[in-house]
Amino acid sequence: MKIGPRLFFGFHCFPEPFILSHAMRIESEIKLDFKDVLIRPKRSTLTSRKEVNLERTYTFKHSGHTFGGIPIIASNMDSVGTLAMARSLAAFKALVALHKYYQVDELVNFFSQNPETLPYTFISTGITNEDYAKLKDIIGRDELQGIMGICIDAANGYTEAFVEFVCRVRAAFPNMTIIAGNVVTGEMVEELILSGADIVKAGIGPGSVCTTRKMTGVGYPQLSAIIECADAAHGLGGHLIGDGGCVIPGDLSKAFGAGADFVMLGGMLAGHDQCEGKIVEENGQKSMVFYGMSSATAMNKYVGKVAEYRASEGRTVSVPYRGDASETFREILGGLRSSCTYVGARNLKELPKRTTFIRVTQQLNEVFVNI
Ligand code: 5GP
Repeated sequence: MKIGPRLFFGFHCFPEPFILSHAMRIESEIKLDFKDVLIRPKRSTLTSRKEVNLERTYTFKHSGHTFGGIPIIASNMDSVGTLAMARSLAAFKALVALHKYYQVDELVNFFSQNPETLPYTFISTGITNEDYAKLKDIIGRDELQGIMGICIDAANGYTEAFVEFVCRVRAAFPNMTIIAGNVVTGEMVEELILSGADIVKAGIGPGSVCTTRKMTGVGYPQLSAIIECADAAHGLGGHLIGDGGCVIPGDLSKAFGAGADFVMLGGMLAGHDQCEGKIVEENGQKSMVFYGMSSATAMNKYVGKVAEYRASEGRTVSVPYRGDASETFREILGGLRSSCTYVGARNLKELPKRTTFIRVTQQLNEVFVNI
Protein backbone atom coordinates (compact mmCIF):
# COMPACT_ATOMS: atom_id res chain seq x y z
CA MET A 1 0.00 0.00 0.00
CA LYS A 2 1.21 3.48 -0.94
CA ILE A 3 -0.17 6.82 0.03
CA GLY A 4 -0.19 9.55 -2.59
CA PRO A 5 2.22 12.40 -1.82
CA ARG A 6 -0.62 14.88 -1.22
CA LEU A 7 -1.04 13.29 2.15
CA PHE A 8 2.05 14.82 3.51
CA PHE A 9 1.53 18.39 2.33
CA GLY A 10 -0.53 21.03 4.03
CA PHE A 11 -1.89 21.13 7.54
CA HIS A 12 1.59 21.47 9.01
CA CYS A 13 0.63 24.45 11.12
CA PHE A 14 3.16 23.62 13.82
CA PRO A 15 6.75 22.48 13.78
CA GLU A 16 6.73 18.73 14.46
CA PRO A 17 6.18 17.90 17.27
CA PHE A 18 4.68 21.06 18.72
CA ILE A 19 5.61 21.02 22.41
CA LEU A 20 3.95 23.40 24.82
CA SER A 21 5.42 24.45 28.13
CA HIS A 22 3.76 21.54 29.96
CA ALA A 23 3.41 17.87 29.02
CA MET A 24 0.64 18.22 26.47
CA ARG A 25 1.71 17.56 22.83
CA ILE A 26 0.03 18.04 19.50
CA GLU A 27 0.84 15.61 16.71
CA SER A 28 0.30 17.64 13.59
CA GLU A 29 0.50 14.91 10.92
CA ILE A 30 -3.01 14.44 9.59
CA LYS A 31 -4.72 11.11 10.34
CA LEU A 32 -7.30 9.68 7.97
CA ASP A 33 -10.64 7.90 8.00
CA PHE A 34 -12.11 5.70 5.27
CA LYS A 35 -14.13 8.63 3.91
CA ASP A 36 -10.98 10.73 3.41
CA VAL A 37 -9.51 8.54 0.68
CA LEU A 38 -10.30 6.59 -2.47
CA ILE A 39 -8.28 3.84 -4.10
CA ARG A 40 -6.61 4.78 -7.37
CA PRO A 41 -7.46 2.38 -10.24
CA LYS A 42 -4.58 0.57 -11.94
CA ARG A 43 -4.02 -1.24 -15.20
CA SER A 44 -5.29 -4.79 -14.87
CA THR A 45 -5.08 -8.04 -16.80
CA LEU A 46 -8.11 -9.51 -15.05
CA THR A 47 -11.09 -10.11 -17.31
CA SER A 48 -13.75 -10.91 -14.71
CA ARG A 49 -14.46 -10.50 -11.01
CA LYS A 50 -14.90 -14.28 -10.94
CA GLU A 51 -11.12 -14.61 -11.23
CA VAL A 52 -10.57 -12.86 -7.89
CA ASN A 53 -9.87 -15.10 -4.90
CA LEU A 54 -10.85 -13.54 -1.57
CA GLU A 55 -9.55 -16.36 0.61
CA ARG A 56 -6.39 -15.89 2.58
CA THR A 57 -4.11 -18.28 4.41
CA TYR A 58 -2.43 -17.13 7.60
CA THR A 59 -0.26 -19.00 10.08
CA PHE A 60 -0.34 -17.42 13.52
CA LYS A 61 2.72 -16.42 15.50
CA HIS A 62 2.09 -18.10 18.84
CA SER A 63 -0.52 -20.79 18.20
CA GLY A 64 1.11 -22.04 14.99
CA HIS A 65 -2.43 -22.63 13.74
CA THR A 66 -3.20 -22.00 10.05
CA PHE A 67 -6.41 -20.30 8.94
CA GLY A 68 -7.69 -20.51 5.38
CA GLY A 69 -10.82 -18.62 4.43
CA ILE A 70 -12.39 -15.21 3.98
CA PRO A 71 -10.88 -12.90 6.61
CA ILE A 72 -14.04 -11.07 7.63
CA ILE A 73 -15.29 -11.45 11.21
CA ALA A 74 -18.74 -10.72 12.60
CA SER A 75 -18.26 -8.63 15.74
CA ASN A 76 -18.76 -10.08 19.21
CA MET A 77 -21.77 -7.82 19.78
CA ASP A 78 -24.76 -9.70 21.11
CA SER A 79 -26.91 -8.99 18.04
CA VAL A 80 -24.18 -9.80 15.49
CA GLY A 81 -21.83 -12.38 17.03
CA THR A 82 -24.56 -15.00 17.26
CA LEU A 83 -24.58 -18.74 16.74
CA ALA A 84 -26.91 -18.30 13.76
CA MET A 85 -24.45 -15.81 12.22
CA ALA A 86 -21.62 -18.28 12.86
CA ARG A 87 -23.44 -21.00 10.94
CA SER A 88 -24.26 -18.64 8.10
CA LEU A 89 -20.79 -17.14 7.67
CA ALA A 90 -18.99 -20.48 8.09
CA ALA A 91 -20.65 -21.50 4.82
CA PHE A 92 -18.50 -18.76 3.20
CA LYS A 93 -15.46 -19.79 5.28
CA ALA A 94 -15.81 -16.45 7.06
CA LEU A 95 -15.59 -15.90 10.81
CA VAL A 96 -17.62 -14.96 13.86
CA ALA A 97 -16.48 -13.82 17.28
CA LEU A 98 -19.37 -15.02 19.42
CA HIS A 99 -20.61 -12.60 22.05
CA LYS A 100 -19.57 -13.52 25.58
CA TYR A 101 -23.04 -13.91 27.04
CA TYR A 102 -23.84 -17.40 25.74
CA GLN A 103 -24.22 -20.00 28.48
CA VAL A 104 -21.75 -22.87 28.32
CA ASP A 105 -24.58 -25.35 27.74
CA GLU A 106 -25.90 -23.37 24.77
CA LEU A 107 -22.46 -23.52 23.16
CA VAL A 108 -22.03 -27.21 23.87
CA ASN A 109 -25.45 -27.95 22.48
CA PHE A 110 -24.90 -25.88 19.31
CA PHE A 111 -21.45 -27.21 18.51
CA SER A 112 -22.40 -30.80 19.12
CA GLN A 113 -24.78 -30.37 16.18
CA ASN A 114 -22.79 -27.93 13.99
CA PRO A 115 -19.14 -28.96 14.30
CA GLU A 116 -18.31 -27.67 10.81
CA THR A 117 -18.78 -24.16 12.24
CA LEU A 118 -16.09 -24.54 14.93
CA PRO A 119 -12.99 -23.75 12.81
CA TYR A 120 -14.51 -20.35 11.94
CA THR A 121 -15.57 -19.34 15.44
CA PHE A 122 -13.89 -17.36 18.21
CA ILE A 123 -15.07 -17.50 21.82
CA SER A 124 -15.07 -14.03 23.38
CA THR A 125 -14.13 -13.18 26.91
CA GLY A 126 -13.81 -10.16 29.15
CA ILE A 127 -10.95 -9.88 31.64
CA THR A 128 -12.45 -10.60 35.07
CA ASN A 129 -11.74 -13.75 37.10
CA GLU A 130 -15.30 -14.88 36.39
CA ASP A 131 -14.70 -14.46 32.66
CA TYR A 132 -11.53 -16.52 32.99
CA ALA A 133 -13.28 -19.35 34.83
CA LYS A 134 -16.03 -19.47 32.18
CA LEU A 135 -13.45 -19.44 29.38
CA LYS A 136 -11.57 -22.38 30.93
CA ASP A 137 -14.81 -24.30 31.24
CA ILE A 138 -15.77 -23.64 27.60
CA ILE A 139 -12.36 -24.41 26.12
CA GLY A 140 -12.18 -27.64 28.10
CA ARG A 141 -15.40 -29.07 26.66
CA ASP A 142 -15.06 -31.94 24.17
CA GLU A 143 -17.70 -30.41 21.90
CA LEU A 144 -15.57 -27.28 21.49
CA GLN A 145 -12.30 -28.95 20.50
CA GLY A 146 -11.27 -27.43 17.16
CA ILE A 147 -12.59 -23.94 17.88
CA MET A 148 -10.63 -21.30 15.96
CA GLY A 149 -9.59 -19.29 18.99
CA ILE A 150 -10.24 -16.83 21.79
CA CYS A 151 -11.12 -13.15 21.44
CA ILE A 152 -10.08 -11.16 24.52
CA ASP A 153 -12.05 -7.99 24.32
CA ALA A 154 -11.99 -4.77 26.28
CA ALA A 155 -13.11 -1.33 25.15
CA ASN A 156 -9.74 -0.07 26.40
CA GLY A 157 -6.86 -2.40 25.59
CA TYR A 158 -4.31 -0.07 27.19
CA THR A 159 -4.62 -1.15 30.81
CA GLU A 160 -2.08 -3.22 32.68
CA ALA A 161 -4.86 -5.56 33.78
CA PHE A 162 -5.69 -6.24 30.13
CA VAL A 163 -2.10 -7.06 29.22
CA GLU A 164 -1.80 -9.34 32.27
CA PHE A 165 -4.97 -11.15 31.22
CA VAL A 166 -3.55 -11.74 27.72
CA CYS A 167 -0.39 -13.23 29.33
CA ARG A 168 -2.53 -15.41 31.59
CA VAL A 169 -4.64 -16.79 28.74
CA ARG A 170 -1.56 -17.40 26.58
CA ALA A 171 0.10 -19.33 29.42
CA ALA A 172 -3.01 -21.43 29.97
CA PHE A 173 -3.69 -22.13 26.27
CA PRO A 174 -0.37 -22.22 24.40
CA ASN A 175 -1.94 -23.67 21.24
CA MET A 176 -4.92 -21.36 20.98
CA THR A 177 -5.10 -18.50 18.51
CA ILE A 178 -5.67 -15.36 20.56
CA ILE A 179 -7.16 -12.05 19.46
CA ALA A 180 -6.62 -9.10 21.82
CA GLY A 181 -7.95 -5.55 21.59
CA ASN A 182 -8.87 -2.83 21.20
CA VAL A 183 -5.93 -0.49 20.67
CA VAL A 184 -5.01 2.03 17.97
CA THR A 185 -1.28 2.65 18.26
CA GLY A 186 1.77 0.68 17.19
CA GLU A 187 3.51 0.47 20.56
CA MET A 188 0.48 -1.15 22.18
CA VAL A 189 0.06 -3.57 19.27
CA GLU A 190 3.64 -4.66 19.92
CA GLU A 191 3.04 -5.01 23.65
CA LEU A 192 0.00 -7.23 23.08
CA ILE A 193 1.78 -9.44 20.56
CA LEU A 194 4.77 -9.80 22.86
CA SER A 195 2.33 -10.71 25.65
CA GLY A 196 0.93 -13.60 23.63
CA ALA A 197 -1.66 -12.23 21.20
CA ASP A 198 -1.55 -13.66 17.68
CA ILE A 199 -3.94 -11.09 16.29
CA VAL A 200 -4.53 -7.55 17.57
CA LYS A 201 -7.82 -5.73 17.09
CA ALA A 202 -7.54 -2.05 16.18
CA GLY A 203 -10.25 0.57 16.56
CA ILE A 204 -11.24 3.01 19.28
CA GLY A 205 -14.28 5.10 18.54
CA PRO A 206 -15.10 4.40 14.86
CA GLY A 207 -18.07 2.05 15.50
CA SER A 208 -21.58 2.71 14.19
CA VAL A 209 -23.09 2.62 17.69
CA CYS A 210 -20.08 3.86 19.61
CA THR A 211 -20.04 7.14 21.53
CA THR A 212 -16.53 6.90 22.98
CA ARG A 213 -15.25 9.86 20.98
CA LYS A 214 -18.21 11.93 22.12
CA MET A 215 -18.03 10.91 25.77
CA THR A 216 -14.27 10.89 26.21
CA GLY A 217 -12.67 12.79 23.35
CA VAL A 218 -10.43 9.74 22.81
CA GLY A 219 -9.99 7.97 19.47
CA TYR A 220 -7.99 7.61 16.29
CA PRO A 221 -9.14 7.86 12.65
CA GLN A 222 -9.60 4.28 11.55
CA LEU A 223 -7.69 4.18 8.26
CA SER A 224 -4.56 5.62 9.90
CA ALA A 225 -5.01 3.31 12.90
CA ILE A 226 -5.03 0.33 10.54
CA ILE A 227 -1.99 1.54 8.55
CA GLU A 228 0.08 2.14 11.68
CA CYS A 229 -1.08 -0.89 13.67
CA ALA A 230 -0.74 -3.32 10.75
CA ASP A 231 2.83 -2.16 10.26
CA ALA A 232 3.60 -2.77 13.93
CA ALA A 233 1.87 -6.17 13.96
CA HIS A 234 3.54 -7.40 10.79
CA GLY A 235 6.93 -6.29 12.05
CA LEU A 236 6.59 -8.86 14.84
CA GLY A 237 4.97 -11.60 12.77
CA GLY A 238 1.51 -10.83 14.18
CA HIS A 239 -1.78 -10.12 12.42
CA LEU A 240 -4.21 -7.23 12.59
CA ILE A 241 -7.97 -6.81 12.59
CA GLY A 242 -9.49 -3.48 11.55
CA ASP A 243 -12.50 -3.30 13.86
CA GLY A 244 -15.31 -0.81 13.31
CA GLY A 245 -16.16 2.05 11.03
CA CYS A 246 -16.99 0.13 7.84
CA VAL A 247 -20.33 1.40 6.55
CA ILE A 248 -20.14 0.43 2.88
CA PRO A 249 -18.35 -2.41 1.05
CA GLY A 250 -15.70 0.02 -0.27
CA ASP A 251 -14.59 0.62 3.33
CA LEU A 252 -13.58 -3.03 3.64
CA SER A 253 -11.46 -2.69 0.50
CA LYS A 254 -9.78 0.36 2.03
CA ALA A 255 -9.18 -1.50 5.30
CA PHE A 256 -7.58 -4.45 3.49
CA GLY A 257 -5.71 -2.04 1.19
CA ALA A 258 -4.34 -0.30 4.29
CA GLY A 259 -2.89 -3.57 5.54
CA ALA A 260 -5.59 -5.14 7.73
CA ASP A 261 -5.39 -8.94 7.69
CA PHE A 262 -8.99 -9.21 8.92
CA VAL A 263 -11.92 -6.81 9.03
CA MET A 264 -14.52 -6.96 11.80
CA LEU A 265 -18.09 -5.84 11.11
CA GLY A 266 -20.90 -4.84 13.46
CA GLY A 267 -23.42 -2.47 11.89
CA MET A 268 -23.08 -3.83 8.35
CA LEU A 269 -24.30 -7.21 9.62
CA ALA A 270 -27.03 -5.82 11.91
CA GLY A 271 -30.74 -6.11 11.09
CA HIS A 272 -30.64 -9.66 9.70
CA ASP A 273 -32.42 -12.90 10.55
CA GLN A 274 -29.20 -14.22 12.08
CA CYS A 275 -29.14 -11.36 14.63
CA GLU A 276 -31.62 -13.23 16.81
CA GLY A 277 -33.46 -9.96 17.52
CA LYS A 278 -37.11 -8.99 17.38
CA ILE A 279 -38.46 -7.64 14.09
CA VAL A 280 -40.64 -4.57 14.66
CA GLU A 281 -43.15 -3.48 12.00
CA GLU A 282 -44.33 0.14 11.86
CA ASN A 283 -46.11 1.82 8.92
CA GLY A 284 -45.17 -1.12 6.71
CA GLN A 285 -41.45 -0.75 7.51
CA LYS A 286 -39.66 -3.59 9.28
CA SER A 287 -36.79 -2.78 11.60
CA MET A 288 -34.64 -4.26 14.36
CA VAL A 289 -32.97 -2.75 17.41
CA PHE A 290 -29.17 -2.57 17.36
CA TYR A 291 -27.07 -1.30 20.26
CA GLY A 292 -23.48 -0.90 21.37
CA MET A 293 -22.10 -3.32 23.95
CA SER A 294 -21.35 -0.36 26.25
CA SER A 295 -24.76 1.21 25.73
CA ALA A 296 -27.28 1.60 28.53
CA THR A 297 -29.39 -1.06 26.76
CA ALA A 298 -26.60 -3.66 26.96
CA MET A 299 -25.59 -2.74 30.51
CA ASN A 300 -29.19 -2.90 31.74
CA LYS A 301 -29.62 -6.26 30.02
CA TYR A 302 -26.49 -7.93 31.40
CA VAL A 303 -25.55 -6.06 34.56
CA GLY A 304 -28.95 -4.74 35.54
CA LYS A 305 -27.91 -1.06 35.43
CA VAL A 306 -25.33 1.46 34.32
CA ALA A 307 -22.92 1.69 37.28
CA GLU A 308 -22.94 5.10 38.98
CA TYR A 309 -19.27 5.80 38.28
CA ARG A 310 -19.54 5.29 34.53
CA ALA A 311 -21.44 6.65 31.55
CA SER A 312 -22.71 4.62 28.65
CA GLU A 313 -20.40 4.72 25.63
CA GLY A 314 -22.77 3.23 23.10
CA ARG A 315 -25.99 4.06 21.31
CA THR A 316 -29.23 2.20 20.75
CA VAL A 317 -30.59 2.58 17.23
CA SER A 318 -33.22 1.13 14.94
CA VAL A 319 -31.88 -0.45 11.73
CA PRO A 320 -33.94 -1.56 8.72
CA TYR A 321 -34.68 -5.29 8.68
CA ARG A 322 -32.63 -6.79 5.84
CA GLY A 323 -33.53 -10.50 5.77
CA ASP A 324 -30.85 -13.15 5.36
CA ALA A 325 -27.27 -12.05 6.19
CA SER A 326 -25.94 -14.30 3.41
CA GLU A 327 -27.36 -11.92 0.79
CA THR A 328 -25.68 -8.91 2.39
CA PHE A 329 -22.47 -10.86 2.77
CA ARG A 330 -22.50 -11.78 -0.93
CA GLU A 331 -22.87 -8.08 -1.77
CA ILE A 332 -19.90 -7.23 0.42
CA LEU A 333 -17.78 -9.91 -1.26
CA GLY A 334 -18.91 -8.66 -4.68
CA GLY A 335 -17.70 -5.16 -3.79
CA LEU A 336 -14.35 -6.52 -2.61
CA ARG A 337 -13.86 -8.58 -5.77
CA SER A 338 -14.62 -5.53 -7.85
CA SER A 339 -12.06 -3.42 -5.94
CA CYS A 340 -9.48 -6.09 -6.68
CA THR A 341 -10.24 -5.99 -10.42
CA TYR A 342 -9.97 -2.16 -10.44
CA VAL A 343 -6.41 -2.35 -9.13
CA GLY A 344 -5.40 -5.56 -10.90
CA ALA A 345 -5.19 -7.74 -7.78
CA ARG A 346 -5.87 -11.41 -8.51
CA ASN A 347 -6.44 -12.12 -4.86
CA LEU A 348 -6.94 -10.30 -1.58
CA LYS A 349 -3.29 -10.79 -0.67
CA GLU A 350 -2.26 -8.56 -3.59
CA LEU A 351 -4.69 -5.77 -2.68
CA PRO A 352 -2.45 -3.83 -0.25
CA LYS A 353 0.50 -4.09 -2.65
CA ARG A 354 -1.60 -2.61 -5.43
CA THR A 355 -3.35 0.05 -3.34
CA THR A 356 -2.51 3.71 -3.67
CA PHE A 357 -4.80 5.93 -1.64
CA ILE A 358 -5.61 9.38 -2.90
CA ARG A 359 -6.92 11.97 -0.50
CA VAL A 360 -10.32 13.30 -1.46
CA THR A 361 -12.71 15.97 -0.30
CA GLN A 362 -15.79 14.05 -1.38
CA GLN A 363 -16.28 10.31 -1.58
CA LEU A 364 -19.86 9.83 -2.79
CA ASN A 365 -22.43 11.65 -4.88
CA GLU A 366 -25.61 11.46 -2.81
CA VAL A 367 -27.83 13.83 -4.73
CA PHE A 368 -30.72 11.34 -5.06
CA VAL A 369 -32.47 9.36 -2.33
CA ASN A 370 -32.90 5.58 -2.82
CA ILE A 371 -36.40 4.17 -3.29
P1 5GP B 1 -19.22 -1.13 13.37
O1 5GP B 1 -18.85 -2.22 12.41
O2 5GP B 1 -20.63 -1.24 13.83
O3 5GP B 1 -18.89 0.23 12.85
O4 5GP B 1 -18.27 -1.33 14.64
C1 5GP B 1 -18.29 -2.52 15.39
C2 5GP B 1 -17.36 -2.36 16.56
O5 5GP B 1 -17.76 -1.29 17.42
C3 5GP B 1 -17.34 -3.55 17.50
O6 5GP B 1 -16.65 -4.65 16.98
C4 5GP B 1 -16.72 -2.96 18.75
O7 5GP B 1 -15.31 -2.89 18.66
C5 5GP B 1 -17.27 -1.54 18.73
N1 5GP B 1 -18.37 -1.38 19.69
C6 5GP B 1 -19.46 -2.17 19.86
N2 5GP B 1 -20.28 -1.68 20.81
C7 5GP B 1 -19.70 -0.56 21.27
C8 5GP B 1 -20.04 0.38 22.28
O8 5GP B 1 -21.08 0.33 22.93
N3 5GP B 1 -19.15 1.38 22.49
C9 5GP B 1 -17.99 1.48 21.78
N4 5GP B 1 -17.17 2.47 22.09
N5 5GP B 1 -17.65 0.64 20.80
C10 5GP B 1 -18.49 -0.37 20.55
